[in-house]
Amino acid sequence: MVKKFYDFVKKSLTSSSQMEGFKGTEYMYPLLYGITGVNIPSKEMINHALERVKEEIGGFSGDALWLAELVAFLKDGERVFLVDDAFRWLCVALNEGTNGWALLMGNEEKDTIFRLINELQEKKFRVFVTGSLVDGIEELPESVTSFGPSQTGLIYFAQLLVRYALIYGRVPVGDLHELSHSIEENAPGVIFVVGELSSIEHLLVQGMLSLGTPVISLRNTQNLVGSLIVSQTISDMADKAWKLPNIRARLVVKATPDVPVPVGKVFTHEEILEADVGLRLYGSLFSFIIAKPSLTVQEDEVTVLGDIKKTSTFCVLVELGNRNIDDPMTLWIGRILRRVINYAKGIKVKSKGNRIIDLIMTKEALKSGFRPEHLGNLIKTELRNDFPSIGPIHVTFILNKEDAKKMYPTILSFIEERKNKIKNATEESESVFYGCTRCRSFSLAHACTVTPERSSQCGVRPWYMIKAHAILDPGSVYEPCVLIYKGKCLDPLRGEYEGVNRSTERRTEGRVKRIYLHSIFDFPHTACSCFQNIAFHIPEVDGIGLMPRDFKGEAPNGMTWTKLANKVAGRQCIDGVASFSVGYLHSQKFFQGDGGYSRVVWMTDHLKKIAGDSIPEKFKRSIATEKDITTIEELKTFIKKNRPPETL
Ligand code: SF4
Repeated sequence: MVKKFYDFVKKSLTSSSQMEGFKGTEYMYPLLYGITGVNIPSKEMINHALERVKEEIGGFSGDALWLAELVAFLKDGERVFLVDDAFRWLCVALNEGTNGWALLMGNEEKDTIFRLINELQEKKFRVFVTGSLVDGIEELPESVTSFGPSQTGLIYFAQLLVRYALIYGRVPVGDLHELSHSIEENAPGVIFVVGELSSIEHLLVQGMLSLGTPVISLRNTQNLVGSLIVSQTISDMADKAWKLPNIRARLVVKATPDVPVPVGKVFTHEEILEADVGLRLYGSLFSFIIAKPSLTVQEDEVTVLGDIKKTSTFCVLVELGNRNIDDPMTLWIGRILRRVINYAKGIKVKSKGNRIIDLIMTKEALKSGFRPEHLGNLIKTELRNDFPSIGPIHVTFILNKEDAKKMYPTILSFIEERKNKIKNATEESESVFYGCTRCRSFSLAHACTVTPERSSQCGVRPWYMIKAHAILDPGSVYEPCVLIYKGKCLDPLRGEYEGVNRSTERRTEGRVKRIYLHSIFDFPHTACSCFQNIAFHIPEVDGIGLMPRDFKGEAPNGMTWTKLANKVAGRQCIDGVASFSVGYLHSQKFFQGDGGYSRVVWMTDHLKKIAGDSIPEKFKRSIATEKDITTIEELKTFIKKNRPPETL
């Protein structure tokens, strides 16, 4: 077995091999770096490892992995490699879309492989394939990622797990013991062996076992040793994987509304052809779709005002009787309402903000007997699926323009009042803050604390949304949100609160004990990988730089997005670096602990345009962008020339 591998590597790695490493990653060879702590191996190191493999000296299968990585680089180059950005997005998908990563290998017949793919995808595994298995199948489902038919394709999967341990597990490089523990416990990967492996594949799978990766084999052990699981059936393979500690086993069963047409997220963007339209109800000047609190609502109800055969408008009013629901929370519930109302096949409600444009029903939906009452049932069930503790819901459809006109002023003033409440909310005005740990599925040391003045790292989850989930969806698997009782304010400038520290410590299971909301120094906020921007200290000028996710260039101090992102991902940001959302650029407390915009010396042109008038007038000219300068020396000159003298 090892002889073949030895010859294979020896032949592939000639003395003239160009070993410049993979591009688009901070680690030239992620496996080599993770396992040995070395970026580029010397000739002696390669020869020594080859000898260890040949002599089968303890731990040789780990050496085989990084040797195979060198070969894979020469053979596949950039074609198959997943760059760091793509890798981080795979991790972010663990939040909801994915429960784990599965690599399938072996020469089993096509039907068996497809059955396994189906079983795994039903359990929301992201499926990868490689080796002889790829050769045997002409067409793979689009949702399956192939690492190609090469015998060393497994290393691309291994690179994902090792990068996970390095970035999110913060395992010290070269510490094989820690690395294998981290992979076994947290990296979300599992290898499935279905059918025979080639001798090279066999050695590499053995290497993955020694690296802590669970391996599940169909019917026999394949002479693999370690914590191998043998299953007799395809279903059992998927079931066994589901119970592994490193897999994020979550499947939520949702209630189905009592309506005569199929219902599901898949119908949200269903296109209805003009020829299939059976009924169209237009909105009017007074039409609306809105969710609002109403303490008079005691139980679920659906009311239809007007006759569907003589409609002159179409409005949807959802009144919520739960006294814990406040106005800001209904902004989020309303957004969900506009989404779920389109879950029924053949029924579509087009709206723009709070205004309804029209409702369309297909001939088929009409034939099924679908009525507005059914739409009411759908709204109640689906809102309750998202917010189990939402309480009583009263859905009213208004089909008559006169009724709509009478209600309209009240609706408008409610919208205005709600807008002002959200706009005027501050950290001082809110009695609690809001916590989200959705990204804990891949970032164990990250816990977002969100306030009206420190928006979520991902930028898409406003405080009132997290509040709605914390109160109406407690204990949720996919929306793990909590209220954070602020406690004593320990540092109003940097934003340190006793309650936030306590909550962060609890939510990160003791990994992070202290954070500042508004400073990048000492105890910055934690980060996952969804963050939109990064702020970083530039010591040469004692200023702060701001870089967005899509920036492809370099900051004047040579920092790139990948370098910065890997520095902070999955942990408490290191001293002098902090991630933040675009919305935070407009916060009154924007890194106020560090001087706010007065301390910013460089930001990308794009970000500067977004920040706009949130940058105080006197600093607008003195913040350089990549269009003004590219080096530290140029930055120093720029600052001298443009900075207001009192801030130099
Ligand atoms: S709020 Fe924070 S934890 Fe929640 S999804 Fe966004 S970045 Fe992740």
